[in-house]
Amino acid sequence: MKQDIFGLTIEELQAALTAKGMKTFRAKQVFQWLYQKSVFDFSAMRNLSKADIALLEENFTVLPRRIAVLREQNSSDGLTSKLLLGLPDGNSVETVLMRHDYGCSVCVSSQVGCDMHCAFCASGLNGAVRNLSAAEIIAQVYLFNERLRGENTMVSRVVVMGSGEPMLNFDAVIGALDFLHREDTCLMSYRNMTISTCGIIPGIRRLAEQGKPINLAVSLHAVRSELRTSLMPVNKGFPFADVITAAEAYSEAGGRQVTYEYILLKDKNDSVQDAELLSNYLRFKHASVNLIPANPVPEQGFERPSRQRVERFLKILQKNRINATVRKEMGKDIDAACGQLRAKFAKEQEHK
Ligand code: SAH
Repeated sequence: MKQDIFGLTIEELQAALTAKGMKTFRAKQVFQWLYQKSVFDFSAMRNLSKADIALLEENFTVLPRRIAVLREQNSSDGLTSKLLLGLPDGNSVETVLMRHDYGCSVCVSSQVGCDMHCAFCASGLNGAVRNLSAAEIIAQVYLFNERLRGENTMVSRVVVMGSGEPMLNFDAVIGALDFLHREDTCLMSYRNMTISTCGIIPGIRRLAEQGKPINLAVSLHAVRSELRTSLMPVNKGFPFADVITAAEAYSEAGGRQVTYEYILLKDKNDSVQDAELLSNYLRFKHASVNLIPANPVPEQGFERPSRQRVERFLKILQKNRINATVRKEMGKDIDAACGQLRAKFAKEQEHK
């Protein structure tokens, strides 16, 4: 069995390579190829000797080369790309690149599937299969870095907003973000990273203990208990009012504003009363609201409200001095909502 060296620290890489008889300084060269140049084929690492390349190929592998791109979808405007990745164990996850005028961001998945069973989400249709490793999360970013090489750029922002609940895979998520933060990898600022949670309070507290300026996003989606529980069963264990309190404590500890995500679902949570109620909860918080017109998931029968209803909701928040925006839509034509591509792919395989 070849050892996979992807995601090892420089010290670990040195230990692995010298154990096979390579010189210590080679590890640094390999490390630079992998994480600064996004080159994953040993044979393309041009400052290595033929003997070293042969030794590397014989003994080691690199995760991005063991991941198959099962599907690639690019939005018609060219701004969004979505990959369905086939992991070495046969599971698959989605990852999305979004090009903004301020740089490229990647939305990574943290788990295969999800156990939160939010009613409107495609990721949890079949529950969680397993956690992703830190290396598997880092690889999602680096597969896009590899694609961006030709444009002389790298991913500059990461949002942990793909499939899965990041707070239930806390160590791997933080491990991946710490790795991307290193100055000898992406040198990515924690301020350019966001973790989105459905409201796992112990996770929010642990994140606060980390003392890193990582952005916190909370998927709120409803501010009436019964409705939120019906949309997001997690509300039973962690009622949203307590989640807001924990998020506010996070904000106070680190000075970062919390973003509340609120999917607008037609005739479910998009009324004037809901907008007023949401305002009451957030009015004096260091918070902003990101309104997301629902991506309809055909399996679940949720619809997107009209533009007018979205505008009406937004106006009420703004009237109440809540910093609110409607999420810019990217990739609607490529099933970019959580889990949609994976779910579709699984269905197609079933019918084969
Ligand atoms: N589990 C985490 C992160 C993954 S979900 C969380 O709940 O925040 C990322 C975001 O996409 C969440 O806000 C989620 O509620 C939202 N989402 C899921 N399904 C969606 C859909 N059909 N349309 C719009 N947003 C959706």
